Amino acid sequence: MRIESGVATDVGRVREGNEDAFAIEPPLYAVADGMGGHRGGEVASQLALQTVVERFRAHQGSLAEQVQAANRAVYERSASDRKVTGMGTTLTAAVVSGDRAHLVHVGDSRAYLLRAGALRQLTDDHTLVNRMVKAGEISAREAAVHPHRNVILRALGQDPDVAIDEQDVGLIEGDRLLLCSDGLTVMVPEDQLQAILEATAGAPQEAAERLVRAANGAGGIDNITVLVLDVLEGEPPLADDGTPAVDEEAAAAAMGPPPSAEEPASLRSRRWFRWTAIALGVVLALAVGLAGLRTWLDSQWYVGVSNGHVAIFQGIPADLFGFELSHVAEETDIPAAEAMALPVYAELAKGINANSREDAAARVEQIRKDLRTAQHQRQATGAGS
Ligand code: MG
Repeated sequence: MRIESGVATDVGRVREGNEDAFAIEPPLYAVADGMGGHRGGEVASQLALQTVVERFRAHQGSLAEQVQAANRAVYERSASDRKVTGMGTTLTAAVVSGDRAHLVHVGDSRAYLLRAGALRQLTDDHTLVNRMVKAGEISAREAAVHPHRNVILRALGQDPDVAIDEQDVGLIEGDRLLLCSDGLTVMVPEDQLQAILEATAGAPQEAAERLVRAANGAGGIDNITVLVLDVLEGEPPLADDGTPAVDEEAAAAAMGPPPSAEEPASLRSRRWFRWTAIALGVVLALAVGLAGLRTWLDSQWYVGVSNGHVAIFQGIPADLFGFELSHVAEETDIPAAEAMALPVYAELAKGINANSREDAAARVEQIRKDLRTAQHQRQATGAGS
């Protein structure tokens, strides 16, 4: 896979400075949204990304460790420089390698995945309102207008250590990843995000610019930063000197070591044992489940149609992976078409539930009786033969 990216950042229509920042260091992509007075936000977001990029280039640690180092850098600067005391920043970053993306995330910037016509938010906002929504205290709709919707629960630079969300996302050709600051998502609803992303397929730069315009069009109350990554077929491009322009070694370091072929034999056998145990467990569960299902099905009865006749079935009128979950217990001589001509039995072919075999038999007798009654009525009114 290779990535084609587009990026746009804008101060918005209300703020005086742009405290957002982004990094494009293929295959590393990141957005950061700084906060704090007296340019503190700007310092925080840039210092954080600079720290991550330096360590990424130097193959120093995993991406999460690089972000942890960025947290420490912002925290220490904030503690030592009175002009920027209390500053902080969000950070949402992705390293893309082969057919997966490794995502790390702190704060309320977001990552989305657009795949096959569906837009999915990959990250979880570390905000007060999101926590309230998850606890069922307020609705998503209430969160959008909540007076404390700006309160962030986690950001870089607040404490010596920060909890970092990490996840791996498998990628397929045609995927589109969106990394953005909240200046986009508070202004532009998700259905509109998706519409713009879909309307600009194949043109990530245009996508980024149109999303920023949409946020400004809606009021632009905050800085807006948008990174759009298109996942395309093919190899990463080469630099002028013929070496890959994408630092795959840095990616490998950042994403953590791939599963090694030379793992210790003891680990291999432990794994083999574990997988065998899991497989046995699954087989056992299936066997118990099937036995239970069989017992339960044997206790189920209904009246339906077999060979054009009203019939009593044992089981339920359905199939599971092509296996019928019922069989005929008794086929009667009552023509099904005649029964179904009566409105009460119009649904006979779908099955009429019964509590037991006796109950099913009673229902059959009721059908027989109802047909006789209908026949008598037809004869009485002269409509019948
Ligand atoms: Mg913001």
